Amino acid sequence: MDYKIETRCIHGANDNRERHPYGSVSVPIYQTATFSHPGIGQSTGFDYSRESNPTRQELEETMSSLEGAVDTVACSSGMAAIALCLELLETGSHILCSEDLYGGSVRIFQMIGANRGLTFSFVDTSQPELVEQSITDQTKALYIETPSNPTMRITDLAKMKDLAEKHELLLIVDNTFLTPYFQNPIALGADLVIHSGTKFLGGHNDTLAGFLCSGREDLAEKIRFLYKTTGSCLSPFDSFLLIRGMKTLPVRLERQQENAMRIAQWLQKNEKVREVYYVGLPEHPGYEINRSQSRGFGSMISFQTDTPQTARKVLEKIHLISYAESLGGVESLLTYPMLQTHGDVPEPLREKLGITDCFLRLSVGIENADDLIEDLRQALE
Ligand SMILES: *Cc1c(COP(=O)(O)O)cnc(C)c1O
Repeated sequence: MDYKIETRCIHGANDNRERHPYGSVSVPIYQTATFSHPGIGQSTGFDYSRESNPTRQELEETMSSLEGAVDTVACSSGMAAIALCLELLETGSHILCSEDLYGGSVRIFQMIGANRGLTFSFVDTSQPELVEQSITDQTKALYIETPSNPTMRITDLAKMKDLAEKHELLLIVDNTFLTPYFQNPIALGADLVIHSGTKFLGGHNDTLAGFLCSGREDLAEKIRFLYKTTGSCLSPFDSFLLIRGMKTLPVRLERQQENAMRIAQWLQKNEKVREVYYVGLPEHPGYEINRSQSRGFGSMISFQTDTPQTARKVLEKIHLISYAESLGGVESLLTYPMLQTHGDVPEPLREKLGITDCFLRLSVGIENADDLIEDLRQALE
């Protein structure tokens, strides 16, 4: 039976209940480091939890089902998944990246990837011509975020797939912002999909997790080897929290998106707000492309205030919304990217992207939208 995504979020790829003892409806937390063997040369299918664990396996299979992946590894954080992904690339490889990536990705690329002999270029991947012009003989991968972080640029994934095919590049997409509920990059031609499970998938701002989903068997096999070797695994308890969080992914995202649309429209009318970046607004430059390749807009909004003083005042005066890093959870959070998530992005690039001292990023939760608007209103006053 081909279940729809809402059902698969709750029951996984199949109904796996018979796998677990006593008819437990909720997946048990197999809090064990190791598994005893029935006999010499025999295995229950599980040997040691760094390699695999039944709770984590259930989560990974659900994630593969949601992303249309052949395999998924669940990692201890989004950065652990990205670090694992870098291990696939040989010394000397050049990677072409979206210009405004998550700041932690820029940091690992420039500080750690570079030491390993990898080179990176950051281009505006919403302009496919610029991407093609930047491909060299050494280029081995395209690394895309769409919508990007924090300026919400949209990259045409079909065009990236054409370029990747033509130049034999890996197409890697960080799908954290839209999640498999709204966007499936593998179906659009991506080889690998990355997630920070900390964000919408976990959804409750209470745990860290990451995923690396493979669209190809050969990559999946290499990743499984790297995964058990480097030990980037997610714990059984955190795997349980992710399984639990993902059950409500569709209802949370629908509500978050509804709230985000109302707030974006309200911000557009506020006199202290200069510019609003929300993919759901028809005037957003990537609106049509995003609509053609996804099923939604998500709930991330960035905006520019009139002055740096206004931005600082908003951060100090909000009280329902928290001034905190991270995104995607049921609680609304406001971030100052210049000082927080993008503090390590080189200043010239930050300036070019418009990540100034007037730039704020809002992750809209599932509180009552009127309450959220009232909090922003009093803070902007
Ligand atoms: C948060 C985030 C990451 C890093 O994930 P962690 O779980 O914090 O390690 C990577 N990419 C994007 C787009 C993110 O928002």
